Amino acid sequence: MSKGRSSNLGYPRIGENREWKKGLEAFWAGIIEEEEFLAQMKKGRLHHLQKQREMGIDLIPVNDFTMYDHMLDMAVMFGYVPKRYDYAGGVVPLSTYFAMARGNQNAVACEMTKWFNTNYHYIVPEFQDIKPILTENKPLLAYREAKEKLGIKGKPVMVGPYTFIKLSKGFDPLQIPAIILQLIPLYVQVLTELAQEGVEWVQMDEPILVTSLSEDDMKTVSYIYEQLHEAVPQLQIMLQTYFGSVTLYKEVIKLPVGGIGLDFVHDAGRNLEHISTIGFPQDKVLGAGLIDGRNIWRADLAHKTNLLSKITGHVDASHVWIQPSSSLLHVPISVKQETQLDTLVKDSLAFADEKLIEIKHVTDWLQNGAESIKEVLAENQTIIERVATSGARNRPHVHEAVASLKSDQIGRISNYEQRRQKQQNVWHLPILPTTTIGSFPQTTEVRQARNRWRKGEWSNEQYDQFIQAEIREWIEIQEKVGLDVLVHGEFERTDMVEFFGEKLGGFAFTKNGWVQSYGSRCVKPPVIYGDVEFIEAMTVKESVYAQSLTTRPVKGMITGPVTILNWSFVRDDITRQQVTYQIALALQKEVEALEANGITMIQVDEPALREGLPLKKTEWEAYLGWAVKAFRLTTASVKDTTQIHTHMCYCEFHDFIDSISDLDADVISIETSRSHGELIHSFHHHSYNKGIGLGVYDIHSPRVPAVQEMVKMIENALLVLESRQFWINPDCGLKTRGHKETIASLENMVTATRMVRNNVTATP
Ligand code: GLN
Ligand code: ZN
Repeated sequence: MSKGRSSNLGYPRIGENREWKKGLEAFWAGIIEEEEFLAQMKKGRLHHLQKQREMGIDLIPVNDFTMYDHMLDMAVMFGYVPKRYDYAGGVVPLSTYFAMARGNQNAVACEMTKWFNTNYHYIVPEFQDIKPILTENKPLLAYREAKEKLGIKGKPVMVGPYTFIKLSKGFDPLQIPAIILQLIPLYVQVLTELAQEGVEWVQMDEPILVTSLSEDDMKTVSYIYEQLHEAVPQLQIMLQTYFGSVTLYKEVIKLPVGGIGLDFVHDAGRNLEHISTIGFPQDKVLGAGLIDGRNIWRADLAHKTNLLSKITGHVDASHVWIQPSSSLLHVPISVKQETQLDTLVKDSLAFADEKLIEIKHVTDWLQNGAESIKEVLAENQTIIERVATSGARNRPHVHEAVASLKSDQIGRISNYEQRRQKQQNVWHLPILPTTTIGSFPQTTEVRQARNRWRKGEWSNEQYDQFIQAEIREWIEIQEKVGLDVLVHGEFERTDMVEFFGEKLGGFAFTKNGWVQSYGSRCVKPPVIYGDVEFIEAMTVKESVYAQSLTTRPVKGMITGPVTILNWSFVRDDITRQQVTYQIALALQKEVEALEANGITMIQVDEPALREGLPLKKTEWEAYLGWAVKAFRLTTASVKDTTQIHTHMCYCEFHDFIDSISDLDADVISIETSRSHGELIHSFHHHSYNKGIGLGVYDIHSPRVPAVQEMVKMIENALLVLESRQFWINPDCGLKTRGHKETIASLENMVTATRMVRNNVTATP
């Protein structure tokens, strides 16, 4: 056998120019017919396969493509179509498939949630008493297509049984054994048909194995794979893990599978440590995830080959596949398109296509020795060094500022209770103060204005005047509605991270660096390539203008350091913690600038704090430690009378409420209208003594909530929270809502608040 092979785990679906997204949206809008749509999809799919073959990848994944989401594909393949969609059996029609993804007149969509700790969202399968059946063998169809059209013998990919079950809902944990017994025969049938077709290897994705699993979970996993092996021994399963190190390594390597894929990029080398200390079975193939599938940086090939030689010290080279650490779904397609980027930044990047080339180089190194890629290595070294030492990346004063941060607690001058009194003496807010989360409707008009200005059709003055007119209009509306604490409306921002990234040093923006977020929605995350620093005030102008129009307080509004980090592609030559501190120090200057200009209520949004939580619970404490410190760095230097607010878009706080409290924000606003019950429950069990605004209505729908509904919610919340700490606000920003419904909803919110106020007095 030759020494090692090159392999891929999954290729981005969206197409070089987002053809996939455009095709889907044209089909949904009725602009193209189903036949044309399917033809477009097929064209894209085959093109991706063709490209991978041209790059010389030995094991090319098939069935990684999807019309929407790979978990949804698994659900429909097994007939898990909830009753509300009127599905009559057989192959699930495309209309039903998209109804599950997006909802239709008769039925709401299935829930969507984050795929592990990525920004990709999958559709959550619902099991609810459905007896699974095999509606069609999707991996087989994908395999056949690649073979017939291109002569490629692909490696079918699917989500493995345990990950599939663990990520689904609509059952009690006690039912898991029964569900497994139903699903195993279906997986067996899929695998048997693949084996009959001549498939050699199947990639079974089980990223759940890197999360905190119990010994019992592991017993179930062993049972599943023993059953599969017994039923289809002729087929080789590559048990693929990613996003971190395998938790129960000793048990995982005993599973009866042909190969195990491990992530050698994330988790501080723990997989390598396991291989070196515990060993790796000589009869299995090792899928060596050497090239980062989640981030966009050019690999340091000297480092990668060095790592590989450590691996081959324990595993025979003939049993090693060189692959990305995860599917390339999480990175954009090709750097080639980035014609406007600074060369230095461009040179430091590798998107999906460049990563496959890197995989090929490392495979060559393994097969033919270092000499065979000598020139590649030399060039790579030159670029890596140039980037590492460049002035754009390294700003020594930023490093010094972070290094000189004291390890002792960064905190406000006085404790919360003292601050509260002082702030109340300044503001004299009524009990149950009303406010909003920050943004007001971004109408077509607002977006058009921004485009005109960006294209140079409008001067800065013209654009500023437009923004000021919007601010003026909404300050008037808020006063008329009777809100107590106002906002300027965020009309000058497209995106809450991009807006700050464009103004801070150390960020770059790609032209075409899109990645799929969910369904056809793609995002283009900012790139943090260098040390981050404050250059000039970013939000003072609009905030000061808004405050000049009213005697009521207007909240300053900035995005927090952890959210900026979690929604960007972050450099990997220094730790995420270091980068976050850099951002925090830059934002601290913004907070201070706001305060110096008379803005003394300042909201620092951290909607993405929770999503940065590590996959393993044992690592939560470390993450929360520096995340909290970064927030405090940003906000703690202000006077006692300056009120710090924060906002988070969820309310699953029970598992880290102490960290939330440690942020030491004077007021936190959170989303609760859709899960009020749960929240009330969690405040029964935990005490939280600072200001807290519970979202009293859901902003995700145009529906105007009735006064009585909100009265009920407020009264219920007052059963577990003190009236003096309680604020009234919608769930989140109102950017996606229309003008009319926003005003009507806020009017009802204020009416509801006044009704409750009449019946309560402030608790001391
Ligand atoms: N201030 C932001 C807004 O209102 C907060 C958005 C968010 O939490 N995602 O739009
Ligand atoms: Zn929110």
